[in-house]
Amino acid sequence: MENSATYPVKGMHCAACAAIIEKAVRKLDGVREATASYGTESLRVTFEEALVSPEKRSWAVAPLGYKLVLPKPRPAPGQSAAPSLKDEKQAELAALKNKVIVALSLAAISMVIMGWEMAAGFGLIPAPGMILKEFFHHLLPLLATYALFAIGLPYLKGLYRFLRYGAANMDTLIGLGTSVAYLYSFVLTAFEDQLRPYLNVEHNYYDVTIVVIGFITLGKYLEARAKAKTGDAIEKLLGLQAPTALILRDGQEVEIPVEQVAIGDVIVIKPGMKLPVDGVVVDGHSYIDEAMVSGEAMPVAKQAGDKVIGGTLNTTGSFTFRATKVGADTLLASIIRMVADAQGSKAPIQALADKISSVFVPVVLVLAFAALGTWLALGHEAQALTAFIGVLVIACPCALGLATPTAIMVSVGKGARNGILVKDAATLEKLSRVTTVVVDKTGTLTEGKPELGEVKTFAATSRDQALAILAALESRSEHPIAHAITTAARKQGLTLPALSVFDSIKGKGVKGVIEGREYLAGNIALMNDLGLPVDLAAIEHETAAGKTPVFLATQKELIALFWVSDAIKPAAKAAVADLQALGMNVVMLTGDAPGTARHVADAVGIKTVKAGLLPQDKLAEIKSLQQTGQSVAMTGDGVNDAPALAQADVGIAMATGTDVAIDTAGITLLHGDIAKLVKAVHLARQTMTGIKQNLFWAFIFNLVGIPLAAGALQPLLGWTLSPVFAGMAMAFSSVAVVSNSLRLKYSRL
Ligand code: ADP
Ligand code: MG
Repeated sequence: MENSATYPVKGMHCAACAAIIEKAVRKLDGVREATASYGTESLRVTFEEALVSPEKRSWAVAPLGYKLVLPKPRPAPGQSAAPSLKDEKQAELAALKNKVIVALSLAAISMVIMGWEMAAGFGLIPAPGMILKEFFHHLLPLLATYALFAIGLPYLKGLYRFLRYGAANMDTLIGLGTSVAYLYSFVLTAFEDQLRPYLNVEHNYYDVTIVVIGFITLGKYLEARAKAKTGDAIEKLLGLQAPTALILRDGQEVEIPVEQVAIGDVIVIKPGMKLPVDGVVVDGHSYIDEAMVSGEAMPVAKQAGDKVIGGTLNTTGSFTFRATKVGADTLLASIIRMVADAQGSKAPIQALADKISSVFVPVVLVLAFAALGTWLALGHEAQALTAFIGVLVIACPCALGLATPTAIMVSVGKGARNGILVKDAATLEKLSRVTTVVVDKTGTLTEGKPELGEVKTFAATSRDQALAILAALESRSEHPIAHAITTAARKQGLTLPALSVFDSIKGKGVKGVIEGREYLAGNIALMNDLGLPVDLAAIEHETAAGKTPVFLATQKELIALFWVSDAIKPAAKAAVADLQALGMNVVMLTGDAPGTARHVADAVGIKTVKAGLLPQDKLAEIKSLQQTGQSVAMTGDGVNDAPALAQADVGIAMATGTDVAIDTAGITLLHGDIAKLVKAVHLARQTMTGIKQNLFWAFIFNLVGIPLAAGALQPLLGWTLSPVFAGMAMAFSSVAVVSNSLRLKYSRL
């Protein structure tokens, strides 16, 4: 059986690591696909279950210096293993911090010595005395030894792995640069007297080893700290889970761990309590703050029969509710899963950066040796070594590898906090390029809670009789209209006749058998199919006012006409204007009557409307829009709009209740309306802008840095980049990229 899984990976230090891991895991038998991400430090594998055990996958990467974190047996469904991983990360970060303090102290000492000698060389300050000079002369090799072998150990390991397995990453470059600097200096020190006639033995590179390791370690630390912040969305979501639940057992309130809550348990919620799982209110009423899950700012009123979401916060009322979804099935658990998956996914825009990173290290090695050889051939030994080390140190694909994933992580997390759930990075990228937004009417532009208005009967049936029959038919339908009818019947206390056969007629209505007779209910198109005459002129007045007609009929005669109306959302008009201001072409496609559709479209400012469409017509409309070169996003309810949603470049599901099938669409908007769609577009565009800025800076940095460090400008302008500055620049570039991604967190949607 084919399966896929995502594992956190330890020991990833740069983008090239992702390529190394992918290569090693893809080589395993039975592995279909492996994608590693440096941004999330994770590996996603698709594999044949029988052929590759989890152990095998971790063996494949272990010799290369990485560790897969295999899932521990889950303590409880829905409970993620993340918190313990978080603690480990914290500990790693603390250890790294201590390293930085030591490394920077060493760097500071060597910089003071360097500065002193330099200033003295210019006659600015007195030179250190003989004894002090001799002391420095012995101190520097010691400091460099500690810096390289204690603090720089990961880089030496990187060098070893390169020699042993041919796998080169950024550690390899730094390891090679610093150890060459160290070895050269060591040889000078060891054979000072013998080498004096040939080389400038005073010019050693101990300080380079120390300072480069200092800055690179600092850069790594700042980067890791910032990266931890880009991924904190999941932790925040996990933090929403209530640890315990108060349940009713034999009339007694008992507090149990949330993992033990079972479907059907009745849970007691008091003022200010957090809801542990999803369910339906049994008794009592209250207002619930759902902002943390859906981004909806106003507390939502709940009473018996209403759905409630785990992780949300009760305000002042108290009530009981019956658990309908627990553990991994709750909305919160699925949001967490979706966010984790999306954060680890790759945006297409990253492909180029990945390609470059994967060949970057070998190319840089070649360039470094070329610079070394050229300067040696020209007879500049000192310049040769400076260039060699400089190129190795500055040319790390780190910033390149961080550019896309850090931005994606921040944005996916930010989206989730605002009730915008993104399936993967590719969807976000596509949304940023959308030119046409196709919206449906019900729920997107209107409240999605239609109400029954006037009823007109034609045959010798009373209003209540007709309503009872229609409600019986609609009791099995998912359509919002059905909800309006059944609610109206319930409110009037009607007893519904038994329904024996039921079928829905796509895009038109429903039919069923009641007391041996077949009834049909639906729109004008359905009546036309039956050959029953509908007086269009007579209903024009109502449809023009935005009401939807529902006809009830048998095969032979029309029984009654029900008018249903759904209020237009107050925010819809402004949101449509916003979309249009963003350069979007807004189109409405609906199965509703043309008059009704036109009314709603006019009210919100949409010019292009197609009404009376069957699901397959909607699909065809999307296709033809795409053929004219439009990139189309479509909103829909995901039930009968599924084919059109799949055809659209970006399918957007509007979730109103808790029955959210959040993995059907590319983007799911919780408490979705068109105003939130505007936010989603902003999110997508801001993300792509951020990524492009990141990529630009990362490329420019390497494009300028490498030739400068190689000494290409030396003959022309006399410019060279000392390895010390190369180390600084390198550290700065990664930090700059991650900070730019973090900035996305605070931009307005
Ligand atoms: P839309 O969601 O755009 O209205 P649908 O395909 O869901 O498109 O429905 C098309 C039309 O069919 C509705 O506008 C309504 O008139 C009719 N219809 C669908 N389902 C029902 C139902 N259960 N009861 C009555 N009418 C229905
Ligand atoms: Mg529909």
